[in-house]
Amino acid sequence: MKPFPPYRVGFGYDIHRIERDRPLVLAGVTIPSQFGLAGHSDADVMTHAIADAILGAGGLPDIGHYFPPSDPSIKGIDSQKILAKARNEVEAMGYQIGNIDCTLIAEGPRIGPFRDQMKSALGETLGLPANRIGIKATSNEELDDLGQLLGMAAHAVCCLISRESV
Ligand code: MG
Repeated sequence: MKPFPPYRVGFGYDIHRIERDRPLVLAGVTIPSQFGLAGHSDADVMTHAIADAILGAGGLPDIGHYFPPSDPSIKGIDSQKILAKARNEVEAMGYQIGNIDCTLIAEGPRIGPFRDQMKSALGETLGLPANRIGIKATSNEELDDLGQLLGMAAHAVCCLISRESV
């Protein structure tokens, strides 16, 4: 059956607390940092938001449904595996990912120098060229808990295109 509608959009959001003595993994890249993020997986907040945007575009449940935090077998899981699962789910519905866009909200460190690496890490998992992946960051202007570097958050959107329409 022809996938319908031909285009779909999805939104994803995630937040993780800062944790000392953990690697900081963002969009599939380990960033040199004094701290990382707490979480059951590698705590890659950007990748989680993107995966939820993809699943949301498909009208599917969130990543917690596919990777429940209560499952000990996925402790420390590489979040690119979570992202690959999201891709596989929407591809099985007859869609391909058109583009994704993600904004990190963090007081630091600066991710600009890692943007190209992030695009290639995500692009490899999603089968997308760099020009269909948006990676952006903003500070929280020292406001609230994100602004006090107690955590990092990410927002993401995704466009799916029916394979029949390309
Ligand atoms: Mg998460």
